[in-house]
Formats: sequence, structure tokens, C-alpha cells
Amino acid sequence: MAHSALESQALEERTQEIGRQLFAAARQEQERLSSLNRWTAQVLAWCLSDRQLKGRLLRFIDVFPTLHASQEVAYHLREYFPSDFRLPLLLRAGVKLARSGLWTHQALAVGIRQLIEHVGRQFIAESHPEAASSVVRTLAQRGASCSLDILGEQVLSEEEADRYAAQCRTLLQQSLKAYAGKLQTNLSVKPSALTARFDPISPSQSVERAAKRLLPLCHIAQEYSALITLDAEQALLRDLTLQLAQRLLLHPDYDSRHASLGIVIQAYLRDAQATVENLLQWLASHERSLHVRLVKGAYWDHEVAYARQCHWPVPVHEGKALTDAAFERLTERLLGAGPFVTTAVASHNVRSIAHAMAVAEALKLPKEQVEFQLLYGMADTLLAAIVSMGYPVRVYTPIGELVPGMAYLVRRILENTANESFLRQDFLGKGTVDEWIKKPSVAQEPSPAASIQTEQWGEPLLNPADETQRRRFAKAISTALSSTSRRHPLLLGDGEVQTAQAVPVSNPAHLDQTLGEICLATAAEAQRAVELATQAQKTWSNTAVAERVRCLRQAAHILRSQRQELTALEVLEVGKTWREADVDVVEAIEYLEYYSQQMLDLAQGKPVLELPGERNFYRYTSRGVAVVISPWNFPAAILTGMTSAALVSGNAVILKPAGRSMLTALRVTRILREAGIPPSVVQCLPGQGQTIGEMLVRDPRTHVVLFTGSKAVGLSILEACRSIASGQRFIKQVVAEMGGKNAIFVDADADLDSAILGILRSAFSYGGQKCSAASRLILHEAIYDRLLRRLIGATDRLVVGDPADASTDMGPLIEQSAKQRLVEAREYARKIAKVVYEYPESRLPGDGHFFGPCIVTDVAPYDKLAQEELFGPLLVVFRVRHIKEALALANDTDYALTGGIYTRTFSHMEKALREWDVGNFYINRPITGAMVGRQPFGGHRLSGLGTKAGGPDYLLQLLIPKTICTDTTRYGIPLEGDMQ
Ligand code: NAD
Repeated sequence: MAHSALESQALEERTQEIGRQLFAAARQEQERLSSLNRWTAQVLAWCLSDRQLKGRLLRFIDVFPTLHASQEVAYHLREYFPSDFRLPLLLRAGVKLARSGLWTHQALAVGIRQLIEHVGRQFIAESHPEAASSVVRTLAQRGASCSLDILGEQVLSEEEADRYAAQCRTLLQQSLKAYAGKLQTNLSVKPSALTARFDPISPSQSVERAAKRLLPLCHIAQEYSALITLDAEQALLRDLTLQLAQRLLLHPDYDSRHASLGIVIQAYLRDAQATVENLLQWLASHERSLHVRLVKGAYWDHEVAYARQCHWPVPVHEGKALTDAAFERLTERLLGAGPFVTTAVASHNVRSIAHAMAVAEALKLPKEQVEFQLLYGMADTLLAAIVSMGYPVRVYTPIGELVPGMAYLVRRILENTANESFLRQDFLGKGTVDEWIKKPSVAQEPSPAASIQTEQWGEPLLNPADETQRRRFAKAISTALSSTSRRHPLLLGDGEVQTAQAVPVSNPAHLDQTLGEICLATAAEAQRAVELATQAQKTWSNTAVAERVRCLRQAAHILRSQRQELTALEVLEVGKTWREADVDVVEAIEYLEYYSQQMLDLAQGKPVLELPGERNFYRYTSRGVAVVISPWNFPAAILTGMTSAALVSGNAVILKPAGRSMLTALRVTRILREAGIPPSVVQCLPGQGQTIGEMLVRDPRTHVVLFTGSKAVGLSILEACRSIASGQRFIKQVVAEMGGKNAIFVDADADLDSAILGILRSAFSYGGQKCSAASRLILHEAIYDRLLRRLIGATDRLVVGDPADASTDMGPLIEQSAKQRLVEAREYARKIAKVVYEYPESRLPGDGHFFGPCIVTDVAPYDKLAQEELFGPLLVVFRVRHIKEALALANDTDYALTGGIYTRTFSHMEKALREWDVGNFYINRPITGAMVGRQPFGGHRLSGLGTKAGGPDYLLQLLIPKTICTDTTRYGIPLEGDMQ
């Protein structure tokens, strides 16, 4: 096509020429238009003056809409800008007046509200959809059309999604009315707001749910030749959004003769070009047309941080010039790609705009076919300049109240004040024109994989947006299901021992599904295992640390290669959902790597003081035989963690796994052996806890007990290990990780969207069957009603079902007795308190140990519902007046495991982290999901004894420190190199 024209020098020259024209036009307009209101300009100037101030200011603006009383405003102001904080003159004066009392709190609050509203109104056009028509008309007078967008809270329930769809409809109607057919109406819709479960892990169900609300909007749009554009959000949702568009384009009720749908392409995504090629092919083969808005992308920081946390390749270009260059390539491709796409170029970068105009000219496209898009309130001079050059301009115009609009506002201010941002409205005064319009110079970009190699270590989590990974997962589950009929022997010494007694393992989600049979150990096998371990340990403890580490790392390698199989097994054996099973196996791999590194460091010993004439050393030796007693709820991670720690420190391990997760335990043991650990050094003895477990604990030849499980069993083990058997010449080392009755406190100024999502995850993921799960929720009275109402809606959207199905949020409970315990607790709650939410029985699958989430209020703090660990999805909610009361309530339990606060008051964070007596304390995030090496895990009081799993001190419990001192003098003659 016109490709040669696009590659030529002429295109570059023309781009520069247009760039100059645009600058000249914009300069002229600048004299006429006051682009930013005074206060916005002031806030941006403050942000640009100092990074620290910017952080404080933005956080203050973010929290402000939640502050209702003027005292709260004054309090937060003092907190965010303490007296020793360097403030610009004007701000300092304001805060001083407030401090000295010369300004009443009332006056201060009013002043600040006005300031923030001024800034807000710069970027957010109107508060209510009903008022949209006035801004539509105002923009039309300036020669621009607009794309309206509703700013809202995150949609957490289907009811909220209905409300969002209704608001979109109002906006559409308002806009149609205002244009009266003169301009094309355009509405921007967020796909994630069309359903509370827009989740890439189950694409078809997510798309179906969203399409149901989108289709009626498209019908209106088609009737009036309007356009609905699906906004682009996080990279994780990109493919899902494209699928939603494709679903609609092929929907029998969608009239393909009237193109009324648009999508957004984000040029900062490294694979944007490939996405565009696939899309163009798809459109051509299905003969469907689509509008495309080309943007650079607004979630850069989020994308980088999120990808790093998941150990995924960073999906975005890491330099601005790379994105600019990609934007130009995409502009050329899309503008030349008719007839199935029409393209809008959305950028505030004069160079990018000029380039698009030059491309359009080279392709001989009529000007009215090339639309430019700008953000509301941010580029008035550019708007006028582009209009003056005869191109259509559309303004992305957010409508919404300040509270839900705050995230948008803060993002815009961040963009405006980012160092390289072209949004900075003072660009006309800074730098030379030549600098602004020069071709983006592109250095070689590191490969996406290289970007994760900079992290020391860490295992990538399942990426739900990756279709290949999803397919592999589903296949692994069906393969696991088809190979279930085996009888599994004990892994005792060199042999695989069949015993007379064997128990069937069934799937807790399908009780008739047997996954195999497991032989149980008797006293004789337990005796034999200890004997073999005692022998083998002597050699193992003398094996070089480097060799032990090699074995562990090899095990990590094998686990990686069998990751899908093991994950699938967990789904079937213990009822974990895809994500939960995946993260458990990931953690197992990380334990192997983490403890290996820790042992290599410890093998050097620790430095101690020395004086002339002596050589001192501090080294570690192993303890002996370790008994590992593990629970079923993290069947790979906890077991691998305890076992690998003991092994790498030179101890032999006898594993006694929980009755409900024996298949996974046997699988992990085989992997450890395959990796080179001698069979008698790691043995696995499935068996009864009260018999085999207790025998191993009491055996005078076992030196260490690593236990994770309930408080009752943990305390009984501690008791048993206190007594010294005859012939036992040592005190047993016991590490016991036990239960919790964990709480989350949500403060008056918390971000409710993120608090509710955090509560859902903490209380109901894996059906609350985690020691770290939240079973108590403490709410500040100011947000109690609102949060509870939204939490109930959000809980109701959860799907309880078969975890083998990717769209399931919560699987079954582990066994019938667990279900019975929860049923009884709910019955009891009905009598003594108020059950405000219970999952409808009719939505539970008939087969399996299913029990849906349940929320209870009006429980006395001392009641057993508030005190005893239930290990299920039952959440007790309390109302408090202030943080002091919240902390007293939170600490009023036997346990001290996890806890967390959602607040934006710094002093409350400080107070809580000092006074909340827990092992793992979390701020503004869920209280479950601790990761190895990053959030070492463990509690105290009756939650546990010992140091934290996955932390720097853990191995010390499995080692005996030894001090060695040599006298290096004789008759005053120093001996060198005596002991190294
Ligand atoms: P559990 O206490 O019933 O069983 C744990 C293990 O102990 C099993 O292997 C079991 O067979 C064994 N056992 C039972 N009686 C024994 C005895 N008398 N002597 C020796 N061993 C015996 O716990 P569970 O149901 O498997 O797991 C759930 C519990 O574990 C919850 O209380 C949970 O809070 C706790 N947990 C704690 C952590 C943590 O890190 N603190 C982590 C996971 C689970």
C-alpha cells in the first residue's frame, strides 16, 4: 500500500513541519486560553517542586473525600504535614494558622474542600450523569465532541454493576439529547464495571456476564449512530476486553451494519503490535468493523510493580521513547488498515499528533476520518490548535463525584507531574520546539524475560490471562483424574512398603470420586523408620552443605517441571481452587530455594570477637532426626518448607502428613528422593496422628519435632516433648505453628473498595481454611453500615463450587466433620446473634462438603464464636467507636497470628503496628498470602512457638551452634594458621 510513503524521509520532514505548525498554533491559543485554573497550577507546581511533598499532597487529596467532620480534616492535615515537614510558603502559612487556632477547623475544612474541588473540576467535568449535557454543549462550542466516562467505585457486586450500566445509559441519553444528531455521541465503558467478576481465569463466563449489560447499551448506540468504546484497564484484562468486543461483534442481536463499538490499544504494552495484527486479521475474516482508540497507557507504575510481584515479565516498555516509537508504528499500521478499522489518535504529545497527521496526509485520508482525542481539562491549547488545523477532536470527559473520582484525579496529577510527561501544561514554555518534536530515539530494549532476572529469585505465579497456561492447567486436572486408581505404599527406607491397612482418598468436591488408596503405617514401620533415619542421618550430617543444597535445588527444579501435575492433584485432593493450589506449589519451590541460600550463608558460621593468642569460631551442626507433622491446608508448601529446612541443616526427616493430604505428601517425598536425597534421610509415613504421630514424637531417638496444625494437637506435642524418656540424653526441640482467630480493622478513612476486596480474600479464600484467615472483622462505626452492605453484595457474587472449574471462587470444606462444625456454628449464631448473610443452599452443589460464606453480627466479644478457631468461612463482625476499642477487641484472644488494618491515618497505622499483638501485621492489604522470604510467617502466644517460617532465623532452630576456641600461643610464640 502506501508503505513506501510512510518509510520515507519525507514523512519525517512533514512530521516536523506539522509539529512546528502545531506549536505555533498552540502558542497563539495559549495567549487566549487560560489552560489551567490557578489552584490546579499551584498544586501541580507544588508537586513538581519536591517528590516528598508530592507524595504527601496526593495522599492527602486521596483521603480527603472520606473526611466528613472539620476536626478530621484538621487532624489529617497535621498528620500529613507535620511541623518539621518542609512546606511551600503558602501551605506553611495555612497549616500554621490551623495549628495556632487562628483558623477554625470549620474554616480550614471549607478552604481545603474548595481547593480540592477546584482541582477536581479541572479534570472531572460534572458530578452527575444527569448534568452531562451542559459539558457536552460547552465542548461542542469549542469545536470538539466528547467521550463521556462515568467515574465510579470499583464494582464489587452484580447490583453495583447494574447501577453502573444504568448510569451509562443515562449518560448516553443525555449526550444524545445534547448533540441532537449534530455530532456523534461516544461513551467510554469500563469492562470491569460491567460485572463484578471480570476475571481472565474464566474468560467465557466473564465475557457472557459483561456482554449481558453491554448489549442493551450497544442497541441504543446503534439506534442513534453513537459509539461505545471499551476502555483499556490493566494488562491482565486486555485479552478479556478484546474477547468481549469480539463476542459482541458476532452476537446475533448486534447489527454489524452499524459500527457502534470501539476498543483501546495501549502502545506501552510490548505485544501491542501483535495484538493489532491479530485483531486486524480477525476483523477481516469476520467482516466486522471496529473503532480503535490508540493511547500510550496510564497504568505504567501498576503494571511494573504487579508484574514484579508475580515474577512475570514486565508487560510494558520500560522507557518513554520506546512507547513513543511503538505509538508511531501503531499509528501507521492502524491508519493504513481500513476499511475494517477507524482510528482515533489519543495523545497529548505534539510529536505523536504531528506524526499521525503526516501519516494521514501520506495515506491521503480525508481529515474528517482522523480523529484526535485529548483528556478533559488538560490540553485546551492543543485542542484549539488541532481544531484550527481542521481535524476532528474528541475530549475524554469523566463525570463523577469526588470520592469515587479521586483515583482518576490522582492518576492525572501523577501523569501531569511525572518527569517526562508530555501532559505538563507548561511544556510550551520549556525546551525548544526541536527537542519536543524530534523523532523518539530508541535504544535496544532488554527482553521482557531479562526484566525479571534482575530480581534475585522467585517463582512466577500462574498468569490467568495466559491461555496456554490455563489450557495446561485444565489438562493436568483431567489427566490427574484419569490416573487415580493406584494403591500408594509407604516410603520407608529404600523400599516402598505395602501395609495391610489402606484407606481410600476421595475428592471433597465429589465424594464418589476416589483418587487412590494409601497404605497406613503401623507401630512397626514407625520404629523401623526411626532406626533407618538414625543411621542415615550420621552420613547426611557429614555430607557437604554444598551437596545438600544441590539436592534441594534439584528438587526445586523437578517440582517446577511437575508443577501442573502437583497443582492439579491439590485441586482434587484438598479442594483448592486453581489460584490457591498454584500458589501453594510455588511456595513449596520457593522454600527449597530460600532455605538453600540460608544454609549456604550459615555454613560460613558467624563472626565472634577475638583477642591476641586465641582463635574463635562459631559454627553450626545438625540436631539429628526430625519428625515433620504437617497439616492438609497447604499440603505442598508447609510440608516442603519444614522438610527442606530440616534436610538442608543436615537432619534426617520422617514425615507424618495429615490424613487429608497424603497423596500430595507422597508425591513431594518422591521428588526429594529423585533429587538425590538418600531414601532413609527422607521417609514418608502416612498414618494416624494419635498413634503414629504420637509415637514418632515420643520416640527417644527423634530430636526435633516440626509441627504445624491445631492448637490442641500442638499443645499436646509440647507436653509430650517436655518429658524425657529413659535413655534420652537431650531435650527435644519443638517448633509448633498453630491456629489463629485473626482480625481485620477497617478505619473511618479507609479505602472501602480495597478493604472489601481484602476482606473477601482474607476471610473466604480457600473457604477460610487458613490459619491466617480473617474470622473477625472490626469496623469503625462511621463506615459500618456502608461497608457491611457492600461486603454482603460482594460476598454474594462468590461462586462456591467444584474447584476443578476455573470460575469457582470457593471449593468445598475438607471433610464432613468440618462442614458439620460450621453448620452447628451457624445454627448457634442464629440463636445468640444475627446471621446477616448466608450463602443460599440452593446455589451449593449437591455432592461434596460444601458450606457457603456466612456473615454474623451482634456477637459478644467473649462468646465462643468470637474466640474459638472455626477454620471455615464464617466471619463475625463488630462495631467500634475508635481505634483504641478496635485494638482492645483485636487483642482479646488466645491467639497472636495475623492481623491487619485498613486506614489512611498514619498515627493509627503506627499505633496498631505497635500495639496489635500478632506475628504478621498487615497494612492496607489482605492478611493472608504471606510469601517466602518476603513476609516470614508465624505467630506467638497460643498461635505458635518458634521463629518464622520462610524467614532468616528459621534454620537456627534446626541447628546446634558450637563455639570453638584454640589457644594459639606457646611460650608466647604465636602459631599462624592453626585452625582455619
Ligand atoms: P491437626 O492439628 O488436626 O493436624 C495436624 C497434624 O497433626 C496432622 O498431620 C495430624 O495427623 C497430626 N496429629 C494429630 N494428632 C496428633 C498427635 N496426637 N500427635 C502427633 N500428631 C498428631 O490440624 P489440621 O486440621 O491438619 O490443620 C488445621 C489446623 O492447622 C488449624 O488449626 C490451623 O490454624 C493450623 N495451621 C497453622 C498454620 C501456621 O503456620 N500457624 C498453618 C496451617 C495450619
